[in-house]
Amino acid sequence: MEKREVIYNPSSEFAEEFINNEEILKTLKFGRENSKNRELIEKTLKKAKEVKGLDHYEAFLLLSCELDDLNEEIYNLAKKIKQDIYGNRIVLFAPLYLSNYCVNGCVYCPFHLKNKDIPRRKLTQEELRREVIALQDMGHKRLALEQGEDPVNNPIEYVLECIDTIYNTKHDSGSIRRVNVNIAATTVENYKKLVDAEIGTYILFQETYNKKSYEALHPTGPKSNYNYHTEAMDRAMEGGIDDVGIGVLFGLENYEYDFIGMLMHAEHLEARFGVGPHTVSVPRIRPADDINPDDFDNSLSDEMFSKIVATLRIAMPYTGMIMSTREDEATRARTLKLGISQISGGSRTSVGGYEVDYEASRDGAQFDLEDTRTLDEVINWLMDNDHLPSFCTACYRAGRTGDRFMSLAKSGNIKSVCHPNALMTLQEYLEDYASEDTKRKGEKLILDNIDLIGSDTIREKTEGWLKEIKEGRRDFRI
Ligand code: SAM
Ligand code: SF4
Repeated sequence: MEKREVIYNPSSEFAEEFINNEEILKTLKFGRENSKNRELIEKTLKKAKEVKGLDHYEAFLLLSCELDDLNEEIYNLAKKIKQDIYGNRIVLFAPLYLSNYCVNGCVYCPFHLKNKDIPRRKLTQEELRREVIALQDMGHKRLALEQGEDPVNNPIEYVLECIDTIYNTKHDSGSIRRVNVNIAATTVENYKKLVDAEIGTYILFQETYNKKSYEALHPTGPKSNYNYHTEAMDRAMEGGIDDVGIGVLFGLENYEYDFIGMLMHAEHLEARFGVGPHTVSVPRIRPADDINPDDFDNSLSDEMFSKIVATLRIAMPYTGMIMSTREDEATRARTLKLGISQISGGSRTSVGGYEVDYEASRDGAQFDLEDTRTLDEVINWLMDNDHLPSFCTACYRAGRTGDRFMSLAKSGNIKSVCHPNALMTLQEYLEDYASEDTKRKGEKLILDNIDLIGSDTIREKTEGWLKEIKEGRRDFRI
């Protein structure tokens, strides 16, 4: 058979054409050569101020910028875009580990097949119910399901059964209203099943876009197939999943290569399906059983990490950006201002971890946390830092997904929906789960924020519903 010539083509269905190595190398060279090119960087910043996003060349030029005053402008622009589009709202979620059985050989993850140190465990439906109740009792409404890849121990049927159990577990006023799913790349048929199970976002991290490194980091198991993994979001969208979440594991490969690759992936989804990723995650590698991050010599400074967040915010203004408890309080505080819109709180990264305290949950955990505060402490801290914690799950439940969500976001009208929903879900949290101090701060925050609802009709409706929430009714949404 004649060998296909690999070209760069953002709308191609082939991984190596939409994530094209030559194109990434060209972009790297361009950015590095122009890192002090004032005229070009200023021109790019001017374009960025139109808030229509940037392509991978333009975004990488900003990431490479070595001029202090222009770097300051980049940070200020990121803060402005964050404030203009997302206001002071921060959405909260928690990961839920279903199973750590895994047949893959990912060298950075303790769940890899050859690790005999960690106890292997998969939640029964009864154990799952207990985890969900523990999460509900903290106040969570939105989960990200996590598991290893193992077609025998955790096939798609197991995931579907778990989703059903989660949605049907109700304890006191608690309910999980949005289940996002972070499981291995799979078939169009299986993605269709996830759509039928009413998942929110399908999340899959690329880990690294560099094919050669990817193959070295994934020596065995189904995940070792770079093309199959890289084309997963295409299959997810073909299967009818509107909202997909991408990400790389920073620290594995050169961050510049992966930054460019991630933007090219977003451009590809936009070119092929008319809608880019719903979220982008920025995890950094953490220590874990059998894993020492120093074995990977691509760690990046906190300063560069912040700049990545700022530049992503400018390049993809309407894409939600997620930060987990892999990062400490200081990094979270800094990056929340620069563009992060969703964070996890009170997380555990082991199977069955919510039934025990943090120390006990470290046994068999996927990685150690930097932020070990309780959800209530995180909520209290967010409010102290002028953020408005939100447990909103309205969009996908109201059918605002994919391009419908994006066009609403781009029109600026999302604010009039998200802001009241944030206030109402925070009020629910205050009534049902908050400590006294958090409740006091939250009540004041809601009062201070109610006038930010521009429309009189929506404000009056929200005020009425807030009153009903205090009287015990739940789950209102715009
Ligand atoms: N097993 C599925 C997969 O690998 O795509 C999904 C769930 S896996 C539990 C979620 C993510 O954890 C992986 O995509 C990887 O980026 C991240 N991860 C693995 N090992 C890690 C470590 N040592 N530190 C931080 N994150 C890690
Ligand atoms: Fe398994 Fe995912 Fe960990 Fe790889 S990253 S070993 S696929 S759980």
